[in-house]
Formats: sequence, structure tokens, C-alpha cells
Amino acid sequence: ATPAATMVGSTLGAKNGVLFKGGDILERAKDVDTVVFDKTGTLTTGEMTLTDVVALEDEGNRAAADGGDAAADGGAVAARTRLDQDAVLRLAASAERDSEHPLAQAIVEGAEERGLELSDPDSFENVPGQGVRATVDDREVLVGNRRLLEANDVDPSLAESAMERLEREGKTAMLVTVDGEAVGVVADADTVKESSAEAVAALQERGLDVMMITGDNERTARAVAERVGIDPDNVRAGVLPEDKADALEEIQSTGRKAMMVGDGVNDAPALAVAYVGTAIGSGTDVAIEAADVTLMRDDPLDVVKVIRISEATLAKIK
Ligand code: ADP
Ligand code: MG
Repeated sequence: ATPAATMVGSTLGAKNGVLFKGGDILERAKDVDTVVFDKTGTLTTGEMTLTDVVALEDEGNRAAADGGDAAADGGAVAARTRLDQDAVLRLAASAERDSEHPLAQAIVEGAEERGLELSDPDSFENVPGQGVRATVDDREVLVGNRRLLEANDVDPSLAESAMERLEREGKTAMLVTVDGEAVGVVADADTVKESSAEAVAALQERGLDVMMITGDNERTARAVAERVGIDPDNVRAGVLPEDKADALEEIQSTGRKAMMVGDGVNDAPALAVAYVGTAIGSGTDVAIEAADVTLMRDDPLDVVKVIRISEATLAKIK
């Protein structure tokens, strides 16, 4: 773009809360044919709350688990470790105490709200994209996804039906194990942003393909995709933080010009690889640094503005 057009476009952008890092980007954004949204913190608020605690001994007792009430007195005697809901939650929250992940913080807050007293873990390890491992009250506690359990040779099948039920509700379900045994499931949920569905629809109306990429599991991802109007075939789930950029490259390998929209540290490499990287301004500095465009507000509808402003700027040149 000419310096004059760049100035017009930048000013128009700034007025609309959209910051372009230079004239090239202003010019490029109009050619985007695919928009890839990160899920957590981008299409959703990222503010997690603990919604469910399932003690596996209670799994027969759906009513108790659904209501999130205190554990019903599980009658069946199992050979396995038997923990009630409060015990499951207390161990999970103690293990997550030192984690800064939003999923972890919601678990800790949920436990505190229920008046549970947490222990200080004697050891703690964060496993990116999978969960945490901690020593709590001399027991080894894992909290995380199926991948974490599989990597630690724990059989997650006992918890599978509870996990699936929660995931179909769009929640992020996490397994809790104690000394190598699955003892429970905890679930967090966050809220889809008010304008996410409108933004997706507006982009689709312009003929753009809209996709979603997330480290969360397939079922949860699809439930959220459905809520915002993204085709389930356009969902890339279970993508490890270090693999997000590869996933973007794969999407672009067919000649697509993709805009990645994200907020997290995890998204930075993908934002850098994308034809246009757009960071949500409330996101992390690392994401903003890696991006070409920053949205000053938290509103997915501003993604449509990025493209419209680019078109308007280029129209002025001709
Ligand atoms: P996202 O891409 O949605 O921000 P992450 O890559 O951080 O997600 O994590 C992917 C998955 O790994 C989560 O959905 C969760 O199942 C698991 N996970 C990550 N961190 C934690 C944690 N601290 N506790 C439990 N599970 C976790
Ligand atoms: Mg995110």
C-alpha cells in the first residue's frame, strides 16, 4: 500500500480497536480465505469454573454426579481405592495448587468454595498440554487428560463414560488418579463469548472458511464448535502446544491463506506462521508480539473488521 493508504487504513483500524503492524498486513488481510480460531480465551471467555466432580465409585449414581451434590454414600464395595467426591476434589485441587493454568485455578477455587482444606504438594510437575503430576499427602496424584494417563500407564477406561458425558456438554473433563489408579473425574467449563456465533456467521457469509484449533479433546471441541456454528469437520482438537504451528502449516499447505486468531502463549508460533496472525488484546504479550494484528477489545466480531478495513484501504488506492 502507498504510505497515504497505509495511514488511512491504520487510522481507520485504530478507531475500530484494530492495530495493524504495518502496511503489508493491511494489504494482506483482504486476501485471507480461512479463519482459524483458537478455542479457549478466543471463542470462549477462558474464565473457567469447576462444574462437576465425579467419584468413580459413584458412577452408578448419576443423580449425585450430575447435581454436583456431596457424594452419595456409594454402597457398592470395590476392590479399588474408594474416594468420595470431596476426597477426589481435595486431592485434585492440592495437586493443581501450584499450576497457573486456568483449568487448575478453577479446580482450586471450586475446592475452596466447598470449604475443603488443601494440602501443600511435596512435589509438583506441570506437563504442558496434558496436566499435572504432584505428590500430595505421600500419594502420587495425576490430574489431566487421557494422554497424561496413557503416558503414565494408567488405564482410563473406568472413567470413560463419565468423561464422555461431560465432554458432550462442552466441558473439559480431567481424570484424577492416585498412586496409578483412576479415582475420579473433575470438569471445568467456560462460557462461549456473546459475539462468537455472530462473528463466525459473518465470516462465513463473506465466503470464508472458519476453523477451530484447540488442545482440548475432540468431543468438547465439537460441542463448542456446534454452539458457534463451526463445521465439525473444521475442528482440529487435541493439538499439543508445540504442534499448533504445524497444524496451521498443514492447513495452509493446500494454498489457503489463513488468519489465525488466538490469545495464548500456546498460540504464538501459529500466529507467526499464519498468513495473518491476529492476537486478542487481552491475551498474553507473547501472542501479541508474534501477531500481525492486535484486537484491542475482547470481541471476536472485530476479526470481521480486520478484513473489512483491509478491503476499504485497498479500495482507496485504486
Ligand atoms: P488449550 O489449547 O485449550 O489452551 P492446553 O494446551 O493448555 O489447552 O491443554 C490441553 C489439555 O491438557 C487441556 O484441555 C487439559 O485436558 C489438559 N491440561 C493442561 N493443563 C492442565 C492442568 N493444569 N490440569 C489438568 N489438565 C490440564
Ligand atoms: Mg487460548
